[in-house]
Amino acid sequence: MLKRYFGAALLVCITLAASQAGLTGQNSTGTPKPGRDPKQPIDEEYSKKIREYTTEPFFLSPLVDYLPASKTVPTPKEVLGDVAGAPGKLPYSHEVYRYMRMLEKASPRVKVFSIGTTEENREMIAVAVTSEANLTKLEENRARLAKLADPRTINLNDDEADKLVAASTPIYYITGTIHSPETGSPTALMELAYRLAVDESPYVKAIRDGVITLITPIVEVDGRDRMVDVYNWHLAHPGENWPPLIYWGHYVAHDNNRDAMGMTLKLTQNVAKTFMTWKAQVLHDLHESVPYLYDNTVGDGPYNAWIDPILADEWQMIGWNNVSEMTKFGMPGVFTHGTFDTWSPGYLMFIAALHNGISRLYETFGNAGADTVERTLTVEEYSRTWYRQNPPLPKVKWSQRNNNNYQETGLLTALSYFNANSKLFLKNFYLKAKRSIEKPKTAGPAAYVFPADDPRPGAQAELLRVLQMQGCEISRATAPFSVTVKKKPAPSEKKDATADQKPADPKPADPKPDSKTEPKKQETETRQFAAGSYVVRMDQPYSRIADALLDYQYWSPNDPQKQVYDDTGWTFGELGNVQVVRVTDVTVLNAAMEKVSGEVRATGTYTGSGHVFIINHNTDNALMTLRYRFKNVQFEAAEEPFEAAGQKFNRGSFIIRGVSETELGAAARELGLKVFAIESPPSVKTHAVKAARIAMLHTWLSTQDEGWWRIALDGLKIPYDYISTQDVAKDNNLNAKYDVILFGPVGAGPQRIVDGMPMNGNALPWKTTDLTPNLGKLDSTDDMRPGLGFIGLDNLQNFVKRGGLLISVMDTASLAVQFGLSPGVSIAGSQRLKVVGSILRSKFVDSTSPIAYGYGDSLSIYCDQGLIFNLSNTVGGGSPRSPETRDRPTGRGTADDPDTPQNRASAEAPEDPKAEAWQAMPLTDEQRRNGIYVIPPAFRPRAVLRYGDAKDLLVSGLLDGGGEIAGHAAVIDVPVGSGHVVLFSNNPIWRGETTGSYFLVFNAILNFDNLNAGRKLDEK
Ligand SMILES: [Zn+2]
Repeated sequence: MLKRYFGAALLVCITLAASQAGLTGQNSTGTPKPGRDPKQPIDEEYSKKIREYTTEPFFLSPLVDYLPASKTVPTPKEVLGDVAGAPGKLPYSHEVYRYMRMLEKASPRVKVFSIGTTEENREMIAVAVTSEANLTKLEENRARLAKLADPRTINLNDDEADKLVAASTPIYYITGTIHSPETGSPTALMELAYRLAVDESPYVKAIRDGVITLITPIVEVDGRDRMVDVYNWHLAHPGENWPPLIYWGHYVAHDNNRDAMGMTLKLTQNVAKTFMTWKAQVLHDLHESVPYLYDNTVGDGPYNAWIDPILADEWQMIGWNNVSEMTKFGMPGVFTHGTFDTWSPGYLMFIAALHNGISRLYETFGNAGADTVERTLTVEEYSRTWYRQNPPLPKVKWSQRNNNNYQETGLLTALSYFNANSKLFLKNFYLKAKRSIEKPKTAGPAAYVFPADDPRPGAQAELLRVLQMQGCEISRATAPFSVTVKKKPAPSEKKDATADQKPADPKPADPKPDSKTEPKKQETETRQFAAGSYVVRMDQPYSRIADALLDYQYWSPNDPQKQVYDDTGWTFGELGNVQVVRVTDVTVLNAAMEKVSGEVRATGTYTGSGHVFIINHNTDNALMTLRYRFKNVQFEAAEEPFEAAGQKFNRGSFIIRGVSETELGAAARELGLKVFAIESPPSVKTHAVKAARIAMLHTWLSTQDEGWWRIALDGLKIPYDYISTQDVAKDNNLNAKYDVILFGPVGAGPQRIVDGMPMNGNALPWKTTDLTPNLGKLDSTDDMRPGLGFIGLDNLQNFVKRGGLLISVMDTASLAVQFGLSPGVSIAGSQRLKVVGSILRSKFVDSTSPIAYGYGDSLSIYCDQGLIFNLSNTVGGGSPRSPETRDRPTGRGTADDPDTPQNRASAEAPEDPKAEAWQAMPLTDEQRRNGIYVIPPAFRPRAVLRYGDAKDLLVSGLLDGGGEIAGHAAVIDVPVGSGHVVLFSNNPIWRGETTGSYFLVFNAILNFDNLNAGRKLDEK
């Protein structure tokens, strides 16, 4: 019934629209009427195909129901052999690029720019389409936009800005198919480029004259080519299941759209560089997972707290205009509110939001390929809501052409509105930049300071380089300076002076669960920073991105938004284990400093003389690079702190012998490490640190999360073999090849890791063939379906028993626990815990464990519904907890009296055994009497790191019900046979953001055969 209603109503709209086509002139809002120019001939055949491939007339609009003809400019058909969005046609990246370059050749209104390459060396492009006049004056225009983008160049002069605005043409940047199974954008953008170059209708001509449209038709180029392979395989095997797209990019899948903070992927770097060098006003990213067009720009709260409020208005303006115009065209299912919150700045589009532009995102409806199929929606998708008065149809035949119609209609509508209001948006662009520069005086802070005496200069430089990639200017103090800062906690809170280098200061208002405490008056003190300290001034145009990354986040457990879309906390200083001081005192800007030119690098040094070389362990990730660069050299680790060469050295510090001092000195300088040469080794207990042979283990279910592990290893030049669970199932002597197996998070759960995919239907090959030239490569298999299996589990267990180290994380740690690979550890279910991609405080409970080497006594870790581990000294033993909360039994007396039986003297009960949440309960006499299930002391799980106490567990983000995980072990080392299983409750390697916790993993790797170092054994 609903469907019929739509059909009838919308037919009228189309008729109306058609009768308007051809009318020129302006409508009431100042934008020309949509529709073709009757004087320009159309490509009849192409236009006919558009209508043929569109499944209902109301899935068309007057903007795309025709294609203007050109005698000189080729249509997409030239390359596709059919029209854009035709069934069965998905072009490879080289075909899309070939077409864009044909356009460039044929039209003076198109220019193609190469904007970089991908991890697999495929090209990324940006295509500019605008009037001939605009295109010849690109550089003059860019110079004007650059002044608006950095108002310091015009002394924040509004009159000058107005003149620049009047003379400038704005840039609207569109990016397509970052998510590889969302396949429609390339053909939509090919056709859009053609329309913008060729169409003489007043509607399109106005856009062409008034806006420079910049198009990156494919963001994830590696993934696109693989997706086309998969689709072609599907076409060649009708009726069969096709292999799921296990790899999108070289490293990650949909998380390529969560990289705008860490900027570890080439696609993020290339798009960000393009956005910033072009001084674009808009970044509009295309996705395809919601029917039929969700302009999720407006979305839902909470909004990111660091954006300029002007931007929130711009979102509403363009978003609502989009809905309004497309609704008038009679296209159902167009809306802009929805469940997407705008809190996290990790999305690609957010490069614009925090660089004074406008971020936008469409979710249209794709079929993951170019088949035309019947699609049945869920009630959530088709129901009417207050913000979706004309919802999508419950069931409909849907084509790639429909999708292209929605994408192009939406974009043309947005471009038209943007053009009609271009002076407003250009002025806003200037104002947002100006207000960013004025930040120290208005919102604050004035600056973030990175102290010169941070004991982790490598980590400090790494974080500063991220800010540089974000376009931030970094300065360096040329003399000491003092500013007023928030008072540091009392020194008694700092315990181990040699080990603890964590800053005491920058935690603004550690959110305490007790909301009744009076807001304390801010106590301040003067703090001096040494010359050489880095300063990120907030009086710069891109201050907001620095503020957003370095500040703390707080998402209230009582926030009305319960469906959190993504991570809630990301404070980069905390995740990087770097000291960052938020300074609100504006006098900081008067300190003597100079702008840093070139990349920030830690200074590496080589001092002293002798043939023994020592390097302090400060968890600098470059230590790992160094170890593998000198693979065959003898490295040892000190098991205790020591002093030498007038310096203090932490546990785990390297003692190196038998290497050329020239080579080591060169490496130290390159990697920013400090080498001390001494005559004879320090007298401290040591063990060998081998360059362990590493395997990185993946499943054929999902490679998304372990991809972040690979990018970390590759970036640090740590060699590894990349193997699958199927390889493990086939190899009963893994020790012959590997010392360490890293089993990163899968996101599938233990049983599915063992089972793999169901063995129904046909085999699912993932390999390089003539039909699928882009599959395989990273890894390949004839059939993706088989999982680890019980033989694989057995091989893994034997690998550990024979001396190997298995590192397991989140669901792979669950697998180890569930299948008995880590006796003495159990996992408690949670009832109330809600921690959604937050940063939690953790404490080292055994600093003598090699896994703790180089760290202080606490560490901020990333946690997303972390596992709640319990330890036991018996196999399979749970852990009865909290005897202290046990109530006294019913009996005589008051609540705190002892009960006394009648007719005999009261007997003193032995004290209940007690243990902290991260410890195993001591064994009782009864358990030890016939200790069949008792784990011998040397094989009991050893907690290394635990979650903080409930009262100060949260560092940044959202935490509710934290008492359930507070105090529980976060990292556990379980000796099994001659080897070890290390279990992580948290994910230490995530999205290039958690660089401060990488060394928990690296320490385990380096000390794989000495993890028992420092261990104290207890019979009980
Ligand atoms: Zn997407």
